[in-house]
Order: sequence, then structure tokens, then C-alpha cells
Amino acid sequence: MLQRKDGIMVILSSPSGAGKTTLVNLLSNNNNFFISTSHTTRKPRSNEISGKDYFFVKDDEFKRLIKNDEFLEYAKVFNNYYGTSRTPVIQNLENGKNVLFDIDWQGADQIKNKNLDYKLITFFLLPPSKKILFNRLSNRDMTDRKIVEERMKQFERDVLHWINYDYVVINDNLDECHKKIQNLINAEINNGSKDYDKNFIKEHVDKLTS
Ligand code: ADP
Ligand code: 5GP
Repeated sequence: MLQRKDGIMVILSSPSGAGKTTLVNLLSNNNNFFISTSHTTRKPRSNEISGKDYFFVKDDEFKRLIKNDEFLEYAKVFNNYYGTSRTPVIQNLENGKNVLFDIDWQGADQIKNKNLDYKLITFFLLPPSKKILFNRLSNRDMTDRKIVEERMKQFERDVLHWINYDYVVINDNLDECHKKIQNLINAEINNGSKDYDKNFIKEHVDKLTS
């Protein structure tokens, strides 16, 4: 008899610029992952492709999707709406695929509170320092200083949500950060031992916010 094994859900959140998009792409290369592509009312960046990075939609269309109850979760972030379509997520989980979400703390809370019948692992990424975060944001959003300043201001508030996540990982060296997340996912799936020091993370958060 054929036995179905549901996929797991992995959420990556972080203050803007800490590296979610980069790590989601790296993680999706293995682990049988489907990346959940969100809808957003934000304008595309120059390197972004509609249907791949996001489904870029107008406010009216986003409101229609809310009204039709098509979102598993949605939230307003930096004056724009972002949301996760329910159907592709559930279909992939039921087909045994793991689903990877790059969403903010509001979305992570909503999915957690739904208590779905699928295993959920939540990660929060932190930058090594505020200076490095500023440099990464500046390189990415080169044409718009206002965006960088707005996101640096928001950092102070966003970082406080680290406490609600299963694991917090510092994205200093990209390969090491990728390996760390991958190892924690493997340990969660296989009930293995987890290399994780919450006190070290707490000290790092204290440094970032002092
Ligand atoms: P987020 O999705 O969290 O907003 P991104 O993945 O877009 O962040 O990363 C922000 C910028 O920092 C991007 O230009 C990315 O290439 C760069 N970046 C991400 N991780 C690292 C890293 N470990 N070292 C150096 N640059 C990085
Ligand atoms: P960006 O505009 O930099 O791509 O994303 C801004 C923020 O919105 C990030 O914190 C990102 O994780 C979050 N985000 C992206 N998609 C979604 C989504 O579908 N739902 C929620 N709640 N947040 C999202």
C-alpha cells in the first residue's frame, strides 16, 4: 500500500537585509523544498521577476484575494501588503514536499497560531552587526537611500521578535549560516541532537540593540 508522508513547513524571518532571500534560495537546492512565492503590492526591484520573486499585484487585486480568503496569512510590511497563497502551500505539503517561507514575524505568528497538521520549524536570522546590515542594505537598494534608512529604523523593532522563533542564526559567513540551518532542519526531521546555544544568541541581540 502507498504511504503518504506530508512535508514540513520551514519559516525564515529576519529584519530586512539579514539574508532571508539569499538563504531561501540556497536551502531550496536540496531538501525537496518548494519555495512559497508571495503576493505583494510593493513595486519590483530591478532584478526581480514577477511570478518568481513575488507575484506583484495592485492594491485592488490584493484586496480581492483577501476577500476570497485565498491567503494562509497576510500582513502589511513597510506600507505594502504581502501574503501567502494557501492552495499551493497545502498541495505541496500533501504531496510530501517541504515548504519554505520567507515571511515576516506577523506572518510567522499567523501560521503558528493556525496549528496546522504539518511540522513547523521557525528560524530568525540576524546580521553580524548593524554596520554590516547597513552595508548590505546599501549595496542591495543602491538607488534608494530612503528605503535603507527606513529599514534600518525598523530593525530596532523587528529584532525584538527573535524570542518567538525556534532557532536564531547569525548570517555572518554565508556558507556557515547555510550549513547551520541545514543541520538544524536535518536534526529536527531525524530527532537528532541540535547544535544551538540560546545564551550566545541572547548576548548577540543585546549587542545589536545596545
Ligand atoms: P533579506 O531577504 O533578508 O531582506 P537578502 O537576502 O536580500 O536579505 O540580503 C541582503 C543583501 O545582503 C543582498 O545583497 C545579499 O546578496 C547580501 N548578503 C546576504 N547574506 C550575505 C552574507 N552572508 N555575506 C555577504 N552578503 C550577504
Ligand atoms: P522585501 O520587500 O524586502 O522583499 O520584504 C519585506 C518583508 O516582507 C520581509 O520581512 C519579508 O520576509 C516579508 N514578506 C515577504 N513575503 C511575505 C508574505 O507573504 N507574508 C508576510 N507576512 N511577510 C512577507
